[in-house]
Amino acid sequence: MIKENIELVQEKIRLACQRAGRQEQEVTLIAVSKTKPLSMIEEAYRAGMREFGENKPQELRDKAKLMKEPVRWHMIGTLQSNKIKYVTGTACLIHSVDSVNLAKSIEKEASKKDLIMEILLEVNIAEEETKHGFSVDELLSAIFELSQLPHLKIRGLMTVAPYTENAEENRIYFRKMKELLVDINAKNIDNVCMDTLSMGMSSDFEVAIEEGATMVRVGTGIFGERNYLQ
Ligand SMILES: *Cc1c(COP(=O)(O)O)cnc(C)c1O
Repeated sequence: MIKENIELVQEKIRLACQRAGRQEQEVTLIAVSKTKPLSMIEEAYRAGMREFGENKPQELRDKAKLMKEPVRWHMIGTLQSNKIKYVTGTACLIHSVDSVNLAKSIEKEASKKDLIMEILLEVNIAEEETKHGFSVDELLSAIFELSQLPHLKIRGLMTVAPYTENAEENRIYFRKMKELLVDINAKNIDNVCMDTLSMGMSSDFEVAIEEGATMVRVGTGIFGERNYLQ
């Protein structure tokens, strides 16, 4: 089942790239394995997946410890300062950096461990009250400030688009994200060269790819529905 799901998602990625005139290799598929057991992650690994996303720091750390195969872990969920230690040195990329203070705490932790942590800045592109992330207005000054920190590397931007039944409704937000990335890169800020746009989930990753996503985060579409009550 997982193998078939992955193949289906990969085929949709191929077609979306074709429609947009993009190369398939420009898009990384991240299998979002939150709440799912290691056995399912291993099954996805055998089907070729090498990138996995988790939204809870301890769950990411625990699964990373148990997983024998070499894979890359992405931290995609809300991160509290006291839990940064679980993901620095374990995750290859933190997608969900939503404040300057959090970024500074990551800098401190990365400095302690003598490593450089790659991060994305989460943008609340639809200005939803319930969502985390920088507003478009705050973003530039945050990037100026964070680009000075020696143990952080800002790789790009991430967003969680609004929940909708109709993926087309999110096209405008994905397009704005791409424009934002291009605009910021055009400013030639020292130490800032952003190449990553993490956007698109099971319900809207094809539209996100058409608008320039370089990473899509797909959970349900690969592993099936999640049961949060178990
Ligand atoms: C759970 C989650 C996803 C995957 O969602 P699906 O709709 O199951 O594909 C993607 N991004 C983030 C930040 C998530 O928390």
